[in-house]
Amino acid sequence: MRYQLATSGILAAWETGAARQPLDRALAILWAAGAAQDCDPADLPLAERDARLLAIRANSFGAVMPARATCPECKAEMAMDLNANDLANALAQGNWQETDPRPLTSRDLAAVAELQGDAVFETLRARLGIDAVNRDDIGQQTEDLAAAAELSTQITCAECANDWTETLDVAAHIWADISTATHRLLGEVADLAAAFGWSEADILSLSPARRALYLERVRS
Ligand SMILES: [Zn+2]
Repeated sequence: MRYQLATSGILAAWETGAARQPLDRALAILWAAGAAQDCDPADLPLAERDARLLAIRANSFGAVMPARATCPECKAEMAMDLNANDLANALAQGNWQETDPRPLTSRDLAAVAELQGDAVFETLRARLGIDAVNRDDIGQQTEDLAAAAELSTQITCAECANDWTETLDVAAHIWADISTATHRLLGEVADLAAAFGWSEADILSLSPARRALYLERVRS
């Protein structure tokens, strides 16, 4: 199954997700890319959700993901290129599938998003069927589940050679790409509409190559 955001999908994901929380934005991206046809994406294990988001990233914007990090030791700013396909492979080889209890899903996180204190632990215990009554035990088990779903990358500082592990927020990365692409696309629509009086739908239905050629005339 090839998950991909076409022009209409980029705009649909952005429009649905813009006013929402990060959790809902990730789901909006999956829906818009056709990665939610075999299931409700809210029920996907978080690692599987992120693997699909990485496939969408690679197929829609390319596999190379520019990223930035700050060295915790010397505070040097570092720029690097991550590879969405490599990250998806790392997730596929992770141990999140063998966790007991079952892996965490977006629906689990949404269920506790508004809760505080004991209510968080009580809700997670009930949802996951955790066989523990001690709050510390429940907290540890859910922390382990969250860690199993996390994607991290090893970074070495170019300045001081310090090694550290950075956790990646896959959905936030892809959301930033979608936001950038939306601003670019709507800027193109605005310029072409002003120049030729065409409708938004007409402009977006042009192939990228034809749109680029008209833009060249308008913007030169
Ligand atoms: Zn450093």
